[in-house]
Amino acid sequence: MKIGFIGLGNMGAPMAANLAKAGHEVTGFDIANTPPEGVHAADAVTGAAADMDVVITMLPNGAILQSVAADVIPAMTQGATFLDCSTVDVESARTVADMAAAAGLMAVDAPVSGGIGGAAAGTLTFMAGGSDAGFAAVSPLFDIMGQKAVHCGPSGNGQAAKICNNMILGVTMIGTCEAFALADKLGLDRQKMFDVVSTSSGYSWVMNAYCPAPGVGPQSPADNDYTPGFASELMLKDLRLSQQAAEASDADTPMGARATELYADFVEQEDGLGRDFSAMLPRFVSRRRR
Ligand code: NAD
Repeated sequence: MKIGFIGLGNMGAPMAANLAKAGHEVTGFDIANTPPEGVHAADAVTGAAADMDVVITMLPNGAILQSVAADVIPAMTQGATFLDCSTVDVESARTVADMAAAAGLMAVDAPVSGGIGGAAAGTLTFMAGGSDAGFAAVSPLFDIMGQKAVHCGPSGNGQAAKICNNMILGVTMIGTCEAFALADKLGLDRQKMFDVVSTSSGYSWVMNAYCPAPGVGPQSPADNDYTPGFASELMLKDLRLSQQAAEASDADTPMGARATELYADFVEQEDGLGRDFSAMLPRFVSRRRR
């Protein structure tokens, strides 16, 4: 396929490189980064849109996505597919899908889980929203960039699945970290706590695969002085998207709301910026009951 790839950052660059390695003709554009090996450089954003079968975007937020889509969609060929893999608000995803449909294009929103490691290894999970035809058109690309793709329903439902997953993740991380901090105060050894909880009803992906306590469980960012991994500010972004969606749909999400407040304090008023989201553990340890 002829593929345009817009947004060649931490995630986009390795994803584009994997598509090129698999034999697709990939043309990339980014306002700051040059394309990785195997990917042609476009001079302007429309150079990664004209004559392409699929245009993929991997951008920071919904406002940027909407402005890029406004430039790119008119330059695309009828019948082509606009595939956004960024994490953005549900409304932006649906707005872009409507713009694409009005121009005779297919649109799929397919945010990812798996982080930078998954992008490099081609083992991402895609959660996709869009028509059956749109999903079918880009499925071969999901197979290259990832290990699993779930079609979650119409446009916007990929983003809905992503923010619900990450709201669970943020809440679970906080719960796990406050439990470790309580265990410390009670004189319970962290390794013993892990041994019990990882095979008891408190187990979770956070505890079992991404343990926030250094030296406990499999290798995780905690073992690397909380170098991300998944930075706290990205968790805050996703939690805010969950709260925006909850407000728009009148859903009651008190734990998501509290997790958003805690990550906002951590990132904006404490020392969380640039640290992995599991650095909530030393944060709780350093604090007293309020
Ligand atoms: P990044 O900041 O490294 O990359 C974004 C890229 O977009 C940058 O290179 C930037 O220059 C480019 N860009 C910005 N505006 C542009 C424009 N108008 N035209 C062209 N390029 C433009 O971010 P990232 O870590 O690659 O994340 C990208 C998306 O993936 C985000 O939505 C993020 O939430 C999501 N995501 C990230 C991770 C992760 O672990 N990093 C995991 C899952 C999902």
